[in-house]
Amino acid sequence: MNEQNDVYIPRSEHPRIVIIGAGFAGIYMAKALKNKPFQVVLLDKNNFHQFQPLFYQVATSGLEPDAIVFPVRKIFRGFRNFVFRMADVLQINTHENSIETDIGNITYDYLVLATGSTNNFYGMSDVEMNSIGLKSIRESLDIRSNILQNIEKAVQAIDDETRKKNTTIVIVGAGPAGVEMAGAIAEFKKYIYEKDYPELSNFPIEIHVVEAGPKVLSAMTEKSSRATLVDLKKLGIIVHLDTAVKSYDGHKVALSNGTDLLTASLIWTAGVRGQFPEGIDEGFIVKGNRIEVDEFNRIKGQESIFAIGDVAYMQTEAYPNGHPMVAPTAIQQGEHLAKNLMHTKANWRPFKYFDKGSLATIGKKRAVADLGKLHFRGFFAWFIWSTVHLMSISGFKNKLRVGLNWMNSYFSYDKGNRLIIRRYKPKKVEHETYL
Ligand SMILES: Cc1cc2nc3c(=O)[nH]c(=O)nc-3n(C[C@H](O)[C@H](O)[C@H](O)COP(=O)(O)OP(=O)(O)OC[C@H]3O[C@@H](n4cnc5c(N)ncnc54)[C@H](O)[C@@H]3O)c2cc1C
Repeated sequence: MNEQNDVYIPRSEHPRIVIIGAGFAGIYMAKALKNKPFQVVLLDKNNFHQFQPLFYQVATSGLEPDAIVFPVRKIFRGFRNFVFRMADVLQINTHENSIETDIGNITYDYLVLATGSTNNFYGMSDVEMNSIGLKSIRESLDIRSNILQNIEKAVQAIDDETRKKNTTIVIVGAGPAGVEMAGAIAEFKKYIYEKDYPELSNFPIEIHVVEAGPKVLSAMTEKSSRATLVDLKKLGIIVHLDTAVKSYDGHKVALSNGTDLLTASLIWTAGVRGQFPEGIDEGFIVKGNRIEVDEFNRIKGQESIFAIGDVAYMQTEAYPNGHPMVAPTAIQQGEHLAKNLMHTKANWRPFKYFDKGSLATIGKKRAVADLGKLHFRGFFAWFIWSTVHLMSISGFKNKLRVGLNWMNSYFSYDKGNRLIIRRYKPKKVEHETYL
């Protein structure tokens, strides 16, 4: 019998593995456990898996949201001993081998935290309140609505200052998410804005990228970083290096170099921090709010609780600052932990990351690729980027949708999804940032 407050989960003769998070790490781990002698309980606060690398395309009207989110239940059709529950996990009770969620409690034999990361605003509450991050499909849609709503405001504005504020877009962070976003907005400006908004011909969109470090794409090679900076400038994007954001009130962003930019769109891609429910011993929470794990992804001091993907901090000789917070790390750790759990502890193998390389694109035919010692730039790098991303998206229908969309915009230079389906409202309504 279930206790009254327990989530209903069918009885099973197999040990129960509860995985929190249906991101890359959780999905790939659960897939690797298909029909194995475990009961796999996968939990996520959403009923869908999100393909984060293409959030920026939804935000810039390139793709519709349905193309890059995928229903979790569909992924696991036909899996035996598998249970999905849409639940927000609130608390882990390590002494009782149980978790508390918004729909009830669940016990576990093994617990896996695959809860990913969230925006890191480094304690700047005004920036958090007034900017929009790029960490969920909802935020991607918020950015799209925000940009399009602001342009509509610019059209009907009667003074130049209001027009300028609503047509200036500031992106914070020059990692892959920031530069990809900037490149896509530059394409929007060139192929859509100039045609759709003839009233604003004297007010071209102004795109700024603000980066606290000395270069763009700092995790890539010097060659890729320099090439990308050149491309960004060619696209008319203004790049502020060695510059941090000091404050943003919804109207004006103050930069550490003394510049103030008037803008109604601040897009935050400048950092992430691990996220996880309450109940983890503070002693094991390290830099970037990640959880310290051993070489088997086991949370230090715990026998049966693991962390994989962005939330896990595993220090190794090759990665003294933890592994990169990217999809391949999450996928490999998920699959590796599944394999280990199928064996006795004595036969567990330590995790070893296989770095497949890095890619970034800033628009049609413009991309950089670092693949081992090989470095590519331009059309070929862009072709590799497109192929890799298309292959990685879940589901044939989604692949087809994205592929057709890209083909259409490649030849027609159009972006079909410039729709304000749901209006963006600033987080703090009483602090009305809108005109
Ligand atoms: C804009 C952007 C672009 C990116 N581009 C690339 C790229 O080009 N290449 C690349 O390799 N990587 C890229 N990344 C990074 C990559 O997406 C992440 O490293 C990867 O998603 C991490 O996988 P994960 O499974 O650890 O976490 P996630 O994929 O974030 O999944 C975590 C899941 O946990 C769920 N969750 C969290 N907390 C709870 C809770 N308390 N209860 C229930 N559910 C919960 C969330 O809903 C989510 O579904 C990008 C990231 C972003 C944001």
